[in-house]
Amino acid sequence: MSLAEPVRSSNGVPSLNALTLQVVHDNHPYAEALKTAWGFSAFVTGPAKTILFDTGSDGTLLLENMAKLQLDPARIELVVLSHVHGDHTGGLTGLLQANPRVQVFLPASLPARFKDVVRGYGATVVEIDGPREIDANVYTTGSLGRRIQEQALILRTRAGLVVLTGCAHPGIGGIVTKVRQLHAEDILLVAGGFHLEWATRRRVRAILGVFRSHQVRFVAPTHCSGEKTQEWFRQEYGPDYIDAGVGKTIRLADLTA
Ligand SMILES: [Zn+2]
Ligand SMILES: [Zn+2]
Repeated sequence: MSLAEPVRSSNGVPSLNALTLQVVHDNHPYAEALKTAWGFSAFVTGPAKTILFDTGSDGTLLLENMAKLQLDPARIELVVLSHVHGDHTGGLTGLLQANPRVQVFLPASLPARFKDVVRGYGATVVEIDGPREIDANVYTTGSLGRRIQEQALILRTRAGLVVLTGCAHPGIGGIVTKVRQLHAEDILLVAGGFHLEWATRRRVRAILGVFRSHQVRFVAPTHCSGEKTQEWFRQEYGPDYIDAGVGKTIRLADLTA
């Protein structure tokens, strides 16, 4: 496999000193006060612009959960949609009603009608094909996969790369390998949906081998990862396994303490 040209930060901006991920929509419970529903969404602060990665399935629940975490939707400047499925895009219109002043980065393969709806709210659509920088220290893997096109988000911190996945339809092992090809830094954390609900132990073992070969330091599988898969990752990662679910907050400082 040939190594792609590494993606570099524009203007030589230093990597992030602080990063906070807050799970605001997930089917796995974590913080008691928050509601669960099928889907995934994470509120990302630390980069120059505040990001919402995916929007879950339910916009009302998304905004309620954000309110309980005192996260103001008006702060969001960039929305990154991993893929077309409703459990990742269903909350978008609710968010756009609350704050249409956002740029929405989505796989170019999404239906034209979907993009028109987003533009109809006054938001800007940015179509993603290949890997690129979204903002300083914020990158996309580009649209991966054939049947279901999906992008993962990459955040460049002082301690390594943080990778956020929606459903990982193209395969979580392939996504991690792609990140490794695109960027020179180590992978600090992979969080989000790993799409291994029905995977056999053998398959998960092979994927754990990929994670280990790329020296992924921490993991936080949730959403569609599957409970058995979560358990197998927990056994492998021990203290470096992070329990995720709605309301979970992951701070860079906690990973590097
Ligand atoms: Zn999906
Ligand atoms: Zn999903």
